[in-house]
Amino acid sequence: AEPGAATSPRLTVIGTGYLGATHAVCMAALGHQVLGVDVDAAKISRLASGEVPFFEPGLPELLVKALESGRLRFTTSFPEAADFGDVHFVCVGTPQRAGSFAADLSQVEAAVTALARDVRRRALVVGKSTVPVGTAARLAELIRSVAPAGDGVELAWNPEFLREGFAIDDTMQPDRLVFGVSSPWAEQRLREVFAPVIGQGSPVLVTDPQTAELVKVAANSFLATKISYINAMAEVCEAIGADVHDLAVALGLDARIGSRFLRPGLGFGGGCLPKDIRAFLHRAEELGVGHAVAFLRDVDEINHRRRARTVDLVRELAGGDLRGVRVAALGAAFKPDSDDIRDAPALDVANALHQLGARVRVFDPVAMDNARRAWPTLGYGQSTFDVASGADVVVLLTEWSQFREIDPEALGTVVGKRRIVDGRHALEPARWRAAGWEYRALGRP
Ligand code: NAD
Repeated sequence: AEPGAATSPRLTVIGTGYLGATHAVCMAALGHQVLGVDVDAAKISRLASGEVPFFEPGLPELLVKALESGRLRFTTSFPEAADFGDVHFVCVGTPQRAGSFAADLSQVEAAVTALARDVRRRALVVGKSTVPVGTAARLAELIRSVAPAGDGVELAWNPEFLREGFAIDDTMQPDRLVFGVSSPWAEQRLREVFAPVIGQGSPVLVTDPQTAELVKVAANSFLATKISYINAMAEVCEAIGADVHDLAVALGLDARIGSRFLRPGLGFGGGCLPKDIRAFLHRAEELGVGHAVAFLRDVDEINHRRRARTVDLVRELAGGDLRGVRVAALGAAFKPDSDDIRDAPALDVANALHQLGARVRVFDPVAMDNARRAWPTLGYGQSTFDVASGADVVVLLTEWSQFREIDPEALGTVVGKRRIVDGRHALEPARWRAAGWEYRALGRP
């Protein structure tokens, strides 16, 4: 059916965080009737009034348009959602469980239970959250035990691959759509929902739900491994005085390897890769195949050693002792073009420097509020030049383009000492050295 036509399925999106809010807005932009649902009443009222509660380029404008079109509404009511939706997308969080590598599935279970209790007609529940393989099968059981419509409610898995900062494009033109389904009916419904996306050329892979769950986890594990691979090479380079930057460029030119996600530096963080590889380790052990993915433990450890090494570089530049040293920390978000600070390497490093006695001041273009809330003991400033003023060492921790474009001459006029650690290989060493800076980067002589 045409999107927006009378027969086109009505959608709910349950959990309106980074993933869910984007999905809800984009589905409305594609012509669907969409109801966004969350247990966080404050978040729902902000979204309903046209305000995106996080930073995502282009999303605020698209949200306002979708609200004006009348195709997108928000609620905290599960009975309303159950009554409204033909297809329900589950987009709630699956963080790491405290004190364990396992994924905490309490949000998923609560959301599916709250919805299924009130569904009284044929409906498709589609999981988008990243979950341990086997979760869909368990949730299908859960639905059968609580839904009044019983067998009329079916479960499918449609993992999400969007990247924060590119979330709209990744939703509208994904590299691929994966439909993990148990029936031709479920596949047909998903094809109706994604008709405009499929029409513009994104390939569809139809598989069983457990393979669909695994695609997401395997993809993130591969990406994490690629980053840690080049960072392991950086450790070797440091031992022999080789240059990992040149090494990465040379490796990346091999088409079989490719240059993306092969950038050496401070490593990965955020709300996905770290917890996803740990949850995979845990789940594989439960399944008796822990040995098959044991290398992911090294991937995690290599990643964390980069943070410690960055702290070392700052200490070395400061002359061996960080007590009282004024450090300008550029960046807080886990990556540029995002205000997400979940497991952010930048804040981890800034905090470690603070613990060692440095007087750290952090600046980030968009993540300041989130950083201040989560790390209230760190110092903060208004701008790059503000935090750099009088600094003994500058350390670049998130590769925002405004940091790449810093003029070393101009910055040199405000700092106490011209010393910089480039944690992201974001700067041109020759240019900084020519301006009289002592420049250090991970894995570079
Ligand atoms: P998030 O924490 O930003 O959003 C989760 C939302 O779910 C919150 O708004 C929360 O209030 C809501 N919620 C919690 N319990 C609920 C319940 N019982 N009913 C309804 N709503 C509830 O998380 P996120 O970054 O959007 O991630 C969500 C899922 O998507 C995770 O599994 C994540 O791994 C996956 N994912 C995220 C991204 C990304 O870039 N952020 C990309 C791909 C996949």
